[in-house]
Amino acid sequence: MTEIEKYIPLVGQSIIDDLQLLSERLKGKVIQHINSSPVGGGVAEILNRMIPLLKELGVDTKWDVIKGGEQFFEVTKKFHNALHGRAEEITQRDFEIFMETSQQNIESVDTYGDIVFVHDPQPIALIKKKAANKWLWRCHIDVSNPNERVWGFLMDFIVQYDSAVFSAPAFSRKLPIRQFLISPSIDPLSDKNKELPQEIIDSVLKKYEIKKDKPIITQISRFDRLKDPIGVIEAYLQVKKYINCQLVLAGGTAEDDPEGFKVLGEVKEKAKNDPDIHILLLSQNDIEVNALQRASDVIIQKSIREGFGLTVAEALWKGKPVVASNVGGIPLQIKHKYSGLLCHSIEGASFAIKQLLSSPAYAKKLGENGREHIKNNFLITRHLRDYMLLFLSLYHPEDIVHLG
Ligand code: UDP
Repeated sequence: MTEIEKYIPLVGQSIIDDLQLLSERLKGKVIQHINSSPVGGGVAEILNRMIPLLKELGVDTKWDVIKGGEQFFEVTKKFHNALHGRAEEITQRDFEIFMETSQQNIESVDTYGDIVFVHDPQPIALIKKKAANKWLWRCHIDVSNPNERVWGFLMDFIVQYDSAVFSAPAFSRKLPIRQFLISPSIDPLSDKNKELPQEIIDSVLKKYEIKKDKPIITQISRFDRLKDPIGVIEAYLQVKKYINCQLVLAGGTAEDDPEGFKVLGEVKEKAKNDPDIHILLLSQNDIEVNALQRASDVIIQKSIREGFGLTVAEALWKGKPVVASNVGGIPLQIKHKYSGLLCHSIEGASFAIKQLLSSPAYAKKLGENGREHIKNNFLITRHLRDYMLLFLSLYHPEDIVHLG
């Protein structure tokens, strides 16, 4: 059985047939993805799963990563935060640092693809190399309320692309180029999401010295202020006044995220007096993430800003009740009181967690609805179809792709 055929029991034959039909139309085209980190964070997560499947479907797909030093990634992290609407002091020197590294990448990165698919702001300036090929800019950030100076700076590049792609309708911007709305996805068959035997789940809990004697509340996220790990601890502490429970805050750091260790230090400081708070620094171990999500009674994602929030989809797919902030792509995944609970504050988060821990039948129902919603909308097979249609659309400016 090929890898792609393994999805048939989950999504049905016709979806896989569509993928095969679309991929035939892309024969002869080279798709080149470019981003800034091979591991860590949602973008790398998706590309790692998607590229082998596209290749198997016969779409010649490559992935290149730009290079940058510490200063460059400090600047791009500031851009990232500012685009999410967070107050950041951006100096003229920051823009210069961005351009200096961009210039080095312009000189060293070969943009050989028939379609060059650039992810997020870090590699955006490569568009200066545009020749006869097609260029896509994929924005994974919630840019509904961006810092206008940073957005204005990026606009000079964005307008040179053939099309732009955003994750949710609310993120789209007024642009003179075509825009597509394509939400991210999870892979149900990856190590991160596949079914796991109970022994593996138990062995991961044992490794991290987490006992099953009280309910487990978990947030899996990079240690990043926009994921609000401190707010998660505060919400947990409020719950703990009423229900004896434990908290798992598990995360790694991404190569293009220099803030991680600083935030991790702050989180450890905040948690130091409570033995029921488990702070785990995971080193890209998908089975462990999977096991921790499956072992949890409630999953929380208390982000202050979010692109899409893959961790929410991952938890819902596992049938878990989720409490998550009403930001970014999260409300696409959670319909309040139907497929999870949305919150707007620490108090709201703790109230929702308490409700779920004390009403297991309600929590179970939300989890089941969540799984169904993810199955219908956010699996990688839908994402593959959308991307292939997007690629074809670059050669069909009339907005309709005839496949017959
Ligand atoms: N993740 C992981 N290990 C960690 C922290 C996060 O594998 O220690 C994964 C997580 O399971 C999810 C992705 O990284 O698949 C994060 O994507 P999301 O959209 O939630 O947030 P981002 O990091 O892109 O802001």
